Formats: sequence, C-alpha cells, structure tokens
Amino acid sequence: MKIPKSKITYCRKCKKHTEHKITEHKTTGKRGSLKHGSIARAHKRGLGIGYGNLGKWGSKPAMSKFKRTGVKSTKRISLKLTCKDCKKSTISVIGRLKKVEFE
Ligand SMILES: [Zn+2]
Repeated sequence: MKIPKSKITYCRKCKKHTEHKITEHKTTGKRGSLKHGSIARAHKRGLGIGYGNLGKWGSKPAMSKFKRTGVKSTKRISLKLTCKDCKKSTISVIGRLKKVEFE
C-alpha cells in the first residue's frame, strides 16, 4: 500500500490541523539485558532453568524444534505521525498489510 509522506491532520497539542510527517513505527520487542523481564533477573530469582511448565520463565527450547504453522503473511503496521509545528508525535495503527511504501 502506498502512503503519502505527509498529511494535514489534527494535532492534540496545537489543538488545530497542522502538517504531519508520516514514518513507519517499528518495535524491536526483545528482552533487555538489564530490564525487568531479563533472563539474568530470572536466573537470580531461581527461574529460567529446570524442568516443568514455568511458562515464560521456563527454559527455552530451540525454535528449530517447532514447526511454525498458521504463520501470518501480513504484519500489523503502525504509523508515526509527527507534527511539523511542535514536533509532537502520535502513533496510529492502520491494520494488516504486506508492504508499506511511502511516496
Ligand atoms: Zn502540533
């Protein structure tokens, strides 16, 4: 889907319609090495090792052991709209798309 690089839309901070720059919002979604959900923290708490179903905190088998069925061919795309006047940015989800192009 082709999306324009900028559009005029309402800005909550300016409280009026202004020009916004559109970019794709990307998330990494990985565990941080020192964060609350880190493996190091799990080991300190005595989790992240052993046997049995510990859910998120259990040991992690190799992903190659699993056959990934029902894998989606599209991604949920979210756009980052940045106001050109006040630089305030908002995120809006536009739905599932295969590919995004900015023109
Ligand atoms: Zn603004």
